[in-house]
Amino acid sequence: MRCPKCTSIEDKVIDSRISKEGSTIRRRRECLECSHRYSTTEMLVRDGVVVIKRDGRSEDFDREKLVRAVRAACHKRPVDTEQIAMLVEDVMDAMEAQFEKEIPSRAIGEGVMQRLRTVDQVAYVRFASVYKEFRDVAEFVDEISTLGKPEAGNANPR
Ligand SMILES: [Zn+2]
Repeated sequence: MRCPKCTSIEDKVIDSRISKEGSTIRRRRECLECSHRYSTTEMLVRDGVVVIKRDGRSEDFDREKLVRAVRAACHKRPVDTEQIAMLVEDVMDAMEAQFEKEIPSRAIGEGVMQRLRTVDQVAYVRFASVYKEFRDVAEFVDEISTLGKPEAGNANPR
């Protein structure tokens, strides 16, 4: 981001908040050059981001899908929607910084695991155990998205 006061592009993020509807993120930033503080509102859209699967095929990054997978791992755990949204944003920010627009699915899976570990141990173990079997986050996301859904035909849920 460019500082509105001195136009430096060196800044640090002090605080980030996801909007209630989950479509924008508001960041409080501080310019490293002149210490001016300002806010930015960014859309949670990642244009042109492509996930490279293990077999070399690629697909458009689907944020909702990844959020669903993390949410499934956090089923009945004390992790709220905002924490999940922030986790996914953190992972994707790191991914874009490292890989730009073509991101290996393996790196996304590992990025999620790394962060989930510090958020909730149980969710981490769930995510990690399913992920390690698949080693491909795209395939894995499909699988874990089905977890945490009520079982069909179960009239007496626990
Ligand atoms: Zn500045």
